Amino acid sequence: MKPTGDEQARRLGRLIVVSGPSGVGKGSVIAAAIAQRPETWTSISTTTRQPRPAEQEGREYFFVTKADFEREVASGGFLEWAEYADNLYGTAREPVDQNLASGRNVILEIELAGARQVRAAFPTAVLVLIRPPSMADLRERLIGRGTEPSEVVERRLATARHELAAESEFDYVLVNEDIGATASELVDLLDGQ
Ligand code: 5GP
Repeated sequence: MKPTGDEQARRLGRLIVVSGPSGVGKGSVIAAAIAQRPETWTSISTTTRQPRPAEQEGREYFFVTKADFEREVASGGFLEWAEYADNLYGTAREPVDQNLASGRNVILEIELAGARQVRAAFPTAVLVLIRPPSMADLRERLIGRGTEPSEVVERRLATARHELAAESEFDYVLVNEDIGATASELVDLLDGQ
């Protein structure tokens, strides 16, 4: 007997898109949520950005040249891609499809333009925006991270204002006052609550 639409949907993993300004703590929140739900799969994006000192190829990102990135775009290998602060970022399509098909939940940590593309490709994706408690707090976190020069921090803050203005496009908005508490909210979404 062929499975009904409902049965099929139940067997597919849940696709959760986590967006939010640079420095808001998305990475820490996702890591804390995955510690509680280790069966969750997170995509490792491809980027043309230079690696930061502590970053490793294939762990935070796959670091590629612009030419390689553009080849991948042309061959349709990305589920979504976008330019952010003069660099290109993309999510490989195949592992996302495979993990969802095998019933695993998938988290994508991507910026706004990418989140919109995922929404168009997967209308059932759950879009989550993580907000800082305030813009002053975000500025402090970006400066405190010490990974970007001040003009880059200012550019990322301008982008942050644009991203936060799109709040109404998201299914859930989590204010990241405390990583543990925000991670618990994300775990609830992974569990479908
Ligand atoms: P960062 O350079 O700080 O690692 O990332 C800059 C921004 O790019 C962040 O908002 C991050 O979520 C986003 N980003 C990372 N990977 C992807 C991706 O594959 N696609 C899109 N659209 N955005 C991404």
